[in-house]
Amino acid sequence: MSLTPAHLPKLFDAVAAAINENAAAVTELDQAIGDGDHVFNLQRGIEALQSHATEIAGLDWTAAWQKIGMTVMAAIGGASGSLYATLFISLHKNTKDKPVDPKTFAEALHLAVEAVKQRGKADVGEKTMLDVWVPVAAALKQDVEEGKNLHEILDHVHAVAEAGVEATRDMVATKGRASFLGERSKGHIDAGAKTAQLMIAAIANHIKT
Ligand code: ADP
Ligand code: MG
Ligand code: MG
Repeated sequence: MSLTPAHLPKLFDAVAAAINENAAAVTELDQAIGDGDHVFNLQRGIEALQSHATEIAGLDWTAAWQKIGMTVMAAIGGASGSLYATLFISLHKNTKDKPVDPKTFAEALHLAVEAVKQRGKADVGEKTMLDVWVPVAAALKQDVEEGKNLHEILDHVHAVAEAGVEATRDMVATKGRASFLGERSKGHIDAGAKTAQLMIAAIANHIKT
């Protein structure tokens, strides 16, 4: 199947459902080491995307990424808002005037995650959403280069995202609010890593079905 922005409204709904179903559990994680607003922040962003869904569905991919980035930027407060806006605006820049194919997308996502690293001055191992996004982008890029089929790629990405979330449990946070706790941040999964995994899993499942 070839995925077009016309699929985005249903993808937004799938992402919204995944976040809403897990809202209480993720907020509990976030209250342990953050300020407890992460789910609310994301929900505001996703609701804004849902309200612009028809317009976004009519765009081409590169324009859709730009509109998504700008919508997220305007709707989400907090660290996650500017980081996700950076991800999507970078997807826009790195798909512009390029062929619409898996290789372009995988390379663009890899570069977008690099842009998020720079924006937040963070990297893997710091107990953030990057502990999911970095290995997911790397797995996707490698699988596409190796010519794996879509189902294999989606299953792989799904597993890598779960491993990334789990890895945050024993990390000491050095970025974001959780870093104020130092060693006491250990033993808790990072909420932003968890929501990244939930969104990636929802997208992967939606594409599969
Ligand atoms: P805020 O911390 O401003 O309240 P959110 O609660 O929406 O914003 O987002 C917090 C999440 O953002 C964290 O759980 C973490 O995954 C992620 N995060 C925080 N700082 C950074 C950073 N510098 N780089 C990458 N991700 C970060
Ligand atoms: Mg927060
Ligand atoms: Mg906050």
